[in-house]
Amino acid sequence: MYWADATAEKIIKKRDRDGIEEYVVSSGITPSGHIHVGNARETLTADGIHQGLKKAGKKSKLIFVADDYDPLRKLYPFLTEEYTKYIGMPLSEIPCPEGCCNSYAEHFLNPYLNSLKDLGIEITTYRASECYKAGMYNDAIIKALDNRLKIKEILDGFRKEPLADDWYPLNVVCEKCGKMINTKILGYNSEDKTITYVCSDCGFENNVQPFNGIGKLPWRVDWPARWQIFGVTAEPMGKDHGASGGSYDTGVKISRMVYGYVPPEKMIYEWIQLKVGDKAVPMSSSAGVVFAVKDWNEICHPEILRFLLVRSKPSKHIDFDLKGIPNIVDDYDELERKYFELIEKQKSSSEELNTNDLDKIRLYEVITTNISEKLPVQVAYKFCSIIAQIAIADNEEIDMERVYDILGRNGYNVEEFTEFDKNRLIARLEMSKNWAKNYGEKLNINTKEQAKMEYEKLSDAQKEWVNTFIERFESLESNEITAMNLHELIYEIANSLELSPKEAFGASYAILLSKKYGPKLGSFLASLSSEKVIELYKLN
Ligand SMILES: [Zn+2]
Ligand SMILES: [Zn+2]
Repeated sequence: MYWADATAEKIIKKRDRDGIEEYVVSSGITPSGHIHVGNARETLTADGIHQGLKKAGKKSKLIFVADDYDPLRKLYPFLTEEYTKYIGMPLSEIPCPEGCCNSYAEHFLNPYLNSLKDLGIEITTYRASECYKAGMYNDAIIKALDNRLKIKEILDGFRKEPLADDWYPLNVVCEKCGKMINTKILGYNSEDKTITYVCSDCGFENNVQPFNGIGKLPWRVDWPARWQIFGVTAEPMGKDHGASGGSYDTGVKISRMVYGYVPPEKMIYEWIQLKVGDKAVPMSSSAGVVFAVKDWNEICHPEILRFLLVRSKPSKHIDFDLKGIPNIVDDYDELERKYFELIEKQKSSSEELNTNDLDKIRLYEVITTNISEKLPVQVAYKFCSIIAQIAIADNEEIDMERVYDILGRNGYNVEEFTEFDKNRLIARLEMSKNWAKNYGEKLNINTKEQAKMEYEKLSDAQKEWVNTFIERFESLESNEITAMNLHELIYEIANSLELSPKEAFGASYAILLSKKYGPKLGSFLASLSSEKVIELYKLN
């Protein structure tokens, strides 16, 4: 069974007897920097479980809690010196680093929320800052203060050094200077529910009810409080939170003993490693090793990010290689073909599909927001990246007339493309063009002079192949210049000259690109204009 459905089933088995009316699957991120593909795994894992619950006939809600009331902890490399003065203030209260949004937090949150929309994920977003200010945490704060010693005992159970005797499970946002990391609670009066605190940043002191944004629970208490406030039944977590003695272990106890709430099951997802050169390193905002989710849509379809992040179990680690985007898209295209093939099989045969096949159907359903009626036209991403660099109009835009001509020569029946096919093709061309420019291999086709220099380096037999090839090429009618015909011609001439095809290809890539390898030759030559082919091959 597909992992998300299996997880949902497990949750239902365990929790249905509690009479849960609506399952709530939660995820959360602190928007202290650009939200990256590794963070997105949390949201998409949650979405998978949410979809699994719905498929099982349960009412389910997917929520996202932005931890924008967390403080700015340090001056990140992408911030100016000026931001030193904001260290210690909640992210929601700091100005946008580029002056374009309402706050620091929004600057990083908004692009991510927009990406989730592009991904077709329906999610209810809560901002911790708004929730605290609206008083949603007031009761949880009082419960924490009333149970101060119990919480301290739970936390101390996992600590080498116990917390100080005057520790309070609450951070105070100074009413005067707005900072929250150097405030200290001096006392709590459970009668009138007030605290006395002092801020060592500005010296301000006050006796106040820590409500509506003045008090903020520390993470280890905030998390279990949140489970109860939002009625969370499932929440994927990173390895750090899920580690032994981590915030999940303490959260479970605090949830039960302080908030009287059944905590969500433990569900850990693995980090995503970004491949940089030959090395794979965990994505991390603070280390600056990130690929932001907002940048994904520049280079690839949203459903393929979903595919990448949920095709395997959350416990499996993923190496993310930007150079490898074409392979990921190929895998997705293969899944898509398989999906339509299996659906057909399901309709036409009484034979049951095996688990593996059913999982494939399910995966495609989970990641694809709008499934089309029939298999959409697929043009391989790598090929798109080549076409997008060849079929360029004078204004630098992609010339779709040329694109359709090229596809026609490559065996596509362009007449039959639907609107959906055309839109997806255009998107893929633009994306693969960006990819080639920023992460892939730029296509640098030789000039005649360069081709000539390469030609001089060829063996006599290779030269003869080039000369014969271009002679035959020139005799072809325009409609005969197709990938298949050229492919056959390449072999036919090589055979007649008793030249190995490898030598023929080598000669071609040398004069075309000054390389030892290149795109599929027949297809590539059919994609170039005939004038260009003649210019580069007619060299003797
Ligand atoms: Zn901004
Ligand atoms: Zn202060």
